[in-house]
Amino acid sequence: MVKIVKFGGSSVANAEQFKKVKGIVDADSARKYIVTSACGKESKEDYKITDLLYIAHTHIKYKVSVDDIFDMIEKKYHSIKDSLGIKIDLDAEFKKIKEDIEYDNDVDYLVSRGEYLTARMLAEYLNAEFVDAKDIFKFNYDLSINMEKTNEALQKVIKTDKKIVFPGFYGSMADGKIKVMSRGGSDITGSILANLLNADIYENWTDVSGILVCDPRIVNDPHRIRAITYNELREMSYMGANVLHEDAVFPVVEKKIPINIKNTNSPDNPGTMIMFSCEEVDKENPPYPITGITGKKGFMVITCIKNHSASEVGFLRRVLSIFEKFNISIESVPTSIDSVSVVVESNKVKKVLYEILAELKDNLKCDDVHVYENLALIAVVGRAMANKRGMSGQIFAELGANDINIKTISQGSDEICIVLGVDGSEFEKAIQCIYKKFID
Ligand code: ASP
Repeated sequence: MVKIVKFGGSSVANAEQFKKVKGIVDADSARKYIVTSACGKESKEDYKITDLLYIAHTHIKYKVSVDDIFDMIEKKYHSIKDSLGIKIDLDAEFKKIKEDIEYDNDVDYLVSRGEYLTARMLAEYLNAEFVDAKDIFKFNYDLSINMEKTNEALQKVIKTDKKIVFPGFYGSMADGKIKVMSRGGSDITGSILANLLNADIYENWTDVSGILVCDPRIVNDPHRIRAITYNELREMSYMGANVLHEDAVFPVVEKKIPINIKNTNSPDNPGTMIMFSCEEVDKENPPYPITGITGKKGFMVITCIKNHSASEVGFLRRVLSIFEKFNISIESVPTSIDSVSVVVESNKVKKVLYEILAELKDNLKCDDVHVYENLALIAVVGRAMANKRGMSGQIFAELGANDINIKTISQGSDEICIVLGVDGSEFEKAIQCIYKKFID
């Protein structure tokens, strides 16, 4: 049995958390390959090391003193070192980092030092081997991971009997220079390892006991999702559920490796299993009709009204090409006989809104163009909704009974996700109603 275990920033935020990590790793000999993020926040008021390192980079760039920032970073690592009684020479490490960035203030190198130092300390504390991610995770020029080269490098280092700790989040380019992934990238590091080492399971340890049916800030103490398919998870993450890095799913899907989201602060809680097939998932968790409810505020609907636009060949394409020209991605396109509505993220469209409206009016000769500013999208996700008669009807009826107006509706033909648009002011209430009716 091979397990890849990834610990997020909150799991290594201080010495107490390091001790919990040790308890988890030592409890299971299959937990052999460990990936860590950089130390995260100890409390709401605290700072993530990665954020501090990004700020340090900017200070140096604009020649603002960086001493205070480095003080905060060094203090954090020293306090963990002192409490754990490990020997790493942090003064020498920081001296080298400062010399390196004085020579070349390279942002990727500097921010990667968060994971590097955290992994060095964790490896020592766990009596494991430290393997530097820059020697293993090789990027192609398009910044995808070169799986072949990465595998070659990996096979050379795994011959040890000891456990191995890898820093997450970074790797190197062909010339050996350090390159970081996008934020939250340690999830991807773990997922790539799981793929290349044909892991039986990828454990992703964080500070919540798995994925909840909906946001606990909206519904008090929502149920945990015991098991979910990758497809359902993709739908939920896209619509705002912040569980795993988006790109962390693909490497494990390829090998059908289950992911287990677990809580470092409550290791006995089984968390959430993310699995490949509905049959596997249903064994763990006979489904409610709905697996999860998620969503986002901050959308805009731009509606082009033109008589008979539904039958005008090429009209829809021309509308969409205007958005493409301004590089705006589109969420959905509800249409009616005389209108085409385009749902987009407000933030993305704000800067070019007037130009888009002008083009729609002048070039497409729309009779009118309306803008609806405050749309929230709610995704109701569930593998058990597929082929279930009356499901959307029940959802709509429930919202109607609670006096919530549905502004847009969309559902793909795989029927695992229904996306509803409601006014932003009714977002929370709509989620609460759906939860209450179908889950609680
Ligand atoms: N430390 C990095 C970040 O804060 C990567 C990670 O935590 O996965 O984004």
